[in-house]
Amino acid sequence: MNNIADIAIIGAGIAGVSAAVYAKRAGMSFFIFESGLIGGQLHFIEKVDNYVGIEAGLPGRDFAEVLNKTLAGLEVEIINERVTVVTQEDKKIILRSENSSYAAKGAIIATGASFKNLGIKGETEFQGRGVSYCAVCDGFFFKGKDVAVIGGGNSAVEEAIYLAGLCRTVTVVHRRDKLRAMDYLQKKLFSTANIKVEFNSVVREIKGQDSVEEAVIESITGHKSGSLSVQGIFIAIGAKPDTEKFSKLVSVDEYGFILTDSEMKTSCETIWACGDCRKRPVRQLITAACEGAVAALSAYKHFKGSYLSI
Ligand code: NAP
Repeated sequence: MNNIADIAIIGAGIAGVSAAVYAKRAGMSFFIFESGLIGGQLHFIEKVDNYVGIEAGLPGRDFAEVLNKTLAGLEVEIINERVTVVTQEDKKIILRSENSSYAAKGAIIATGASFKNLGIKGETEFQGRGVSYCAVCDGFFFKGKDVAVIGGGNSAVEEAIYLAGLCRTVTVVHRRDKLRAMDYLQKKLFSTANIKVEFNSVVREIKGQDSVEEAVIESITGHKSGSLSVQGIFIAIGAKPDTEKFSKLVSVDEYGFILTDSEMKTSCETIWACGDCRKRPVRQLITAACEGAVAALSAYKHFKGSYLSI
């Protein structure tokens, strides 16, 4: 038990990298899993405007590159494998991937969340042929075209504003009579000439031949139903946490978000969680980074008996 690592960090988005920085400073031994890109969701954010301490407007990918360098500077083992099964055996956390298995005294879960699907006819069929979950990644392919954005939160509104700079028209389809996006984003949306919003409406089906041609819309107030002629449909209806493999070890809410206390401790004594995989009221980069730091120091306190003063 003595020669196994103190902590396995699962996920190298901003929460996981922050946990790694603090674990290193605390002198804990650890390794970090990341099966995708270091920086996680930062790769889907056009510009970071609200992270105190950096210049507003930093492209998400550039921020991710900073995290990449930060992690490289820690000289920590990065395991580019997807953790598939996690168990607790003899007071150790065992993490299995497709190829191997790893053990640590504890784990910090920082797996984030992934885009939610609408689950309608045509959505899977036209993925990559007009259906997208990321305007920054795919918007370029719809230059001069007509597109729809589904959703009414910050992501949907940001995507619509971004797409309006590229596309001929953008129609936001939202199921309620008001958006939940922040005021300043709504103001920007409603003052952009080529964006319109279809309130109280849902997309029932996506149709086309080789690629998307039409979104079948239904009004939930029964006023008008019909179809939108679009070549692109961007689905921005939120995210679901990547926590299924931990749900036998830690308590989660009805949506799968991990429940923690204010020190990021889960219901399992040697597992902490931080960032978007955790149930939390404020889902921002800055809060994810803070939670990563708290998770690492809380793990330190658990293993060494008191908080580190650093
Ligand atoms: P979100 O806030 O959960 O909004 C999801 C939207 O999709 C809601 O408007 C919801 O409708 C709608 N929706 C959900 N399921 C649907 C379905 N099956 N069919 C149709 N519509 C559906 O998700 P988000 O916009 O991705 O944001 C996630 C978090 O990241 C939020 O906390 C947000 O503040 C944060 N974020 C922040 C920024 C920023 O600060 N610039 C940018 C992006 C995201 P209802 O309104 O009816 O529930």
